[in-house]
Amino acid sequence: MLNYTNKKVYERTALRINPVKTCQPVGAMYAALGVHRCLPHSHGSQGCCAFHRMFLTRHFKEPAMASSSSFTEGASVFGGGSNLKTAAKNIFDLYDPDIIAVHTTCLSETIGDDLNALITEMKIPEGKYIVHCNTPSYKGSHIDGYTNMVSGFINNLAEKGDETNGKICVFPGFVNPGDVREYKRLLNIMKIPFTMLPDTSGVMDSPMTGKFEMYPKGGTTIKEIKDIGNCTMSLALGLKASEPSAQVLEKKLKIPYKSLDLPMGVEATDKFIMTLQEITKEEIPYSIEEERGQLVDIMIDIHPYTYGKKAAIFGDPDTVLGITAFVLELGMIPKYVVTGTPGTDFVERANLLFKKFGVDGCIAKESGDLFLMHQWIKNEPVDLLIGGSYGKHIARAEDIPLVRMGFPIIDRYIHSYVPLVGYKGAMRMAEFITNALMDYQDSHCKEEDLEVVM
Ligand code: SF4
Repeated sequence: MLNYTNKKVYERTALRINPVKTCQPVGAMYAALGVHRCLPHSHGSQGCCAFHRMFLTRHFKEPAMASSSSFTEGASVFGGGSNLKTAAKNIFDLYDPDIIAVHTTCLSETIGDDLNALITEMKIPEGKYIVHCNTPSYKGSHIDGYTNMVSGFINNLAEKGDETNGKICVFPGFVNPGDVREYKRLLNIMKIPFTMLPDTSGVMDSPMTGKFEMYPKGGTTIKEIKDIGNCTMSLALGLKASEPSAQVLEKKLKIPYKSLDLPMGVEATDKFIMTLQEITKEEIPYSIEEERGQLVDIMIDIHPYTYGKKAAIFGDPDTVLGITAFVLELGMIPKYVVTGTPGTDFVERANLLFKKFGVDGCIAKESGDLFLMHQWIKNEPVDLLIGGSYGKHIARAEDIPLVRMGFPIIDRYIHSYVPLVGYKGAMRMAEFITNALMDYQDSHCKEEDLEVVM
């Protein structure tokens, strides 16, 4: 399908072809689904809401429940205030959530609907809540929408009590429920009391019970979110997706924060574990040391297959930087590193990684697209693609194996249940990468070179 992509790169300033991102409300909806008994609400037309739900449902293979203000021509001209009021009443009457999380869309942003004023004027049933955030989709990406919604929960709900609750607040970043479960496992092993915001585990990876549940068991509770104001500190995992929310919490309620890269690969996970160790002041349990040692053992074993191999990595900024760091730890060369999400520190941080590992000729790009990455590959090929499902056309056109990691993965299964973070997640990344390279070798080598023992 992409066989005719032109090698020659022309400068494009006003056109993205296959952008490596989606719109802000997708992220806002995902964040809201990580709050227990919360119904995400899209303040715009039904088409937007259907698209955001579909996008999440295709990646997580779970129903993404959400409602819409159902704008038609009237709301587009006169504003969506009355639609929102009617919607909130119907939602509380029919679907009985504890909380509605409203995000805007391009249309309501362009009209200029003031969500704060509209919600303040509404009659909200006793014990129920409506929170909101702005997610104009003509700037930023789903990562900004995710961050805006998490910050919206803090702005609207978190409050300071008289005494500390002894917990830390963990902002997990835009990751899969399987990653959230891995954080929780490690925090529990380290015996650190925490509140995870949002917590999509148990919601977007809920088990088959034979019974439909509009609000699955998982998610951060409203009580926990309110109590975040009494945490001793917050830990932002992923600088792009989580740090802004930690800053909002610090500004609003003076909760200090520490930011870390997503704990992907050896060094980033070491930093995460060492940070937890600084919090507990206890010795790191042997079970964690053992996992680390197993990972290093695996990396040594697979080194002959990974060393010097070139990869093109694309997706969300925090995830791409995490994968890039791990790929470098494997002795590979992250030749092209691309995110569609805007933010210039992505390029700076990628360049720092290239420098640290002494690799030359690698290119990082923010606000990029897959068309440009394909053109680069045509000029100088790579051995491996690492990213979401939209890379499969390039993989087919250029006969390069694609390892699916990140978001969205809409043509494979199970990815959302198992982690990429932590030492366990790095083992899984190592397995995917090595298997892809070895499968390629098996299918492309001369018959007489085909080895059973590798
Ligand atoms: S109109 Fe805007 S909010 Fe709606 S789907 Fe398109 S980009 Fe997203």
